[in-house]
Amino acid sequence: MEFNDLGLAEPILKALSAKKYVTPTPIQQKAIPVLLEGRDLCGIAQTGTGKTAAFALPSLDYFARNPKPTPIKGCRMLVLSPTRELAAQIAQSFRDYGRFLKLSVETVFGGVPINKQIRVLSAGVDIVVATPGRLLDLIDQRAFTIKDTEIFVLDEADQMMDMGFIHPLKRIAKLLPRDRQNLFFSATMPKEIEALAGQFLNDPVKVSVAPQSTTAERVRQQATFVNQAEKQALLHIVLKNEDIDRALIFTRTKHGADRVVRFLEGAGIDAFAIHGNKSQGQRTTALQAFRQGKVKLLVATDIAARGIDVSGVSHVINFEIPNIAEQYVHRIGRTARAGAEGIAISFVADDERPYLKSIEKATRVKLEIVPLPENFMEAVRNLPKPAPQRKGAEQTPAQKAKRADGQRRYQDQQKSQRGTPDKAHRADGEGAKKNFRRRRGGGGAVGTHKGAVQRTGAPR
Ligand code: AMP
Repeated sequence: MEFNDLGLAEPILKALSAKKYVTPTPIQQKAIPVLLEGRDLCGIAQTGTGKTAAFALPSLDYFARNPKPTPIKGCRMLVLSPTRELAAQIAQSFRDYGRFLKLSVETVFGGVPINKQIRVLSAGVDIVVATPGRLLDLIDQRAFTIKDTEIFVLDEADQMMDMGFIHPLKRIAKLLPRDRQNLFFSATMPKEIEALAGQFLNDPVKVSVAPQSTTAERVRQQATFVNQAEKQALLHIVLKNEDIDRALIFTRTKHGADRVVRFLEGAGIDAFAIHGNKSQGQRTTALQAFRQGKVKLLVATDIAARGIDVSGVSHVINFEIPNIAEQYVHRIGRTARAGAEGIAISFVADDERPYLKSIEKATRVKLEIVPLPENFMEAVRNLPKPAPQRKGAEQTPAQKAKRADGQRRYQDQQKSQRGTPDKAHRADGEGAKKNFRRRRGGGGAVGTHKGAVQRTGAPR
């Protein structure tokens, strides 16, 4: 079967051919025909299966065939996503697949000024991709309504539940109009998700492309037993030895992610962190740099990385393995996307062995145990020191510029102090020496410590 056989409108086929998509993935083959008929759908599918196009293409087809003005302060289609990153990614897919249709696509999520969103939404939008919290904020402020929604999509339902969105979702369900098409996607379908699906769906067609807890087949899965305190040394070696195009490094906590980035910086290896304590700007910058290949390593927590679709992720490194088996499946699903192959390497400390067991039980896959490298103890002894902690962890070019500016102003101040007779003696001695060190270390601009200045950009 090819996309041409599905009966999609011409502008959509044109966009697909521009993206060089020829064959629909299994979820697309199953979902698109029933969605084109206008049926509700309950899909069990993980990210990486092509589920975004599975719901975007038939919806775009509907809009192509049923043009209508957008409802004032409302939308014709609402897609709910658990995270901002996934929302941005879904919106981009709609823009790509709908590039030959005149449709408006907007994202609605927290962390960006609400007033701008209010302005953009005031005339109405065809497709809104939103996270539940900000959507309800806008509705509560009477800046937006979902009462005209013709197609409703709830994506990553299990993640929504994990993130505690159950009450917002129940509220949203009550605000939607009765007459609409519903699509519901979840990677897993335990009882409580099924109950949630029941609140939205009307006689749905059920499609499933990956049985519960099945690990992506093309991922080579390895594990190494290592003390928690020695994981940085192991990471250093793995990054040196492996042929890495792009790697996602997972930690369980936000601080853990920052610690890994500081360690890598200290070793002269460029990396960004992405987690819930980062501002939206930092998260976007990090993801963009990773996507564009400007940085090869992204250190992430589970929530922030969920749904991230970056092609060419050759490695997933579980610096800390997750205590929930499902998270492991989601993590390793970041590699081996769209037919590629990938490697997942897990660092397992003693207290994480029970987690490994439950992962192996849930996925029914035994991980390949790789022993510590021969030179490991030497590597531990020679471990580079982490870069000192500083506010905001890594810096964007704008932050670097700001820092350089501050540095310049400080130096100017020092110079003017030197001009004052009673301070001249001290300033010419201590201060002058300090300034000299600063110029040598940081090229006169960024940071005074080694880690902040030296960015190699390549992990090998
Ligand atoms: P998703 O599961 O929606 O996150 O999609 C995973 C990746 O597969 C994305 O990078 C899509 O752009 C890509 N993709 C989706 N459908 C197809 C297709 N039919 N052929 C090739 N790539 C696809």
